[in-house]
Amino acid sequence: MKTSLTPKQAESNRDNAAVNLAARHLCDRPGRHIVVKVIATGLPVWQIESQTEPGKGDTITTERDGWPADTCDCPDHLWRHTRCKHLRAVSLLQGETPAPAPSLADERARRDARSEELEQASKSARKAARREWREEV
Ligand SMILES: [Zn+2]
Repeated sequence: MKTSLTPKQAESNRDNAAVNLAARHLCDRPGRHIVVKVIATGLPVWQIESQTEPGKGDTITTERDGWPADTCDCPDHLWRHTRCKHLRAVSLLQGETPAPAPSLADERARRDARSEELEQASKSARKAARREWREEV
């Protein structure tokens, strides 16, 4: 049987997985999954070992040339363009509280409001143009 997650379930799974990864990193057990390497330029590069395939892992960066640049080489980030569990875990470890992703309903409401605004602006522009034209004639 094929099961598929809703986007909301997938988001919540990523959050949960990120908390797990961060917690595992913070506890003092051997075999922690997250390794921070400071590369030559002084920037931290995070490596998170795969939980399902030991020896494999993903590489995460959060900055490049002084600019914030979240990158991860996992498929979730590369192919789905999501803020994957690895990036979330790194954010948690860096003490950032990631902004909650806007819900679809919020996005729609914002888009509708903007669309209404543009509609009104366009109407009054047309009205003004008509008035001008009448006054000229
Ligand atoms: Zn990732």
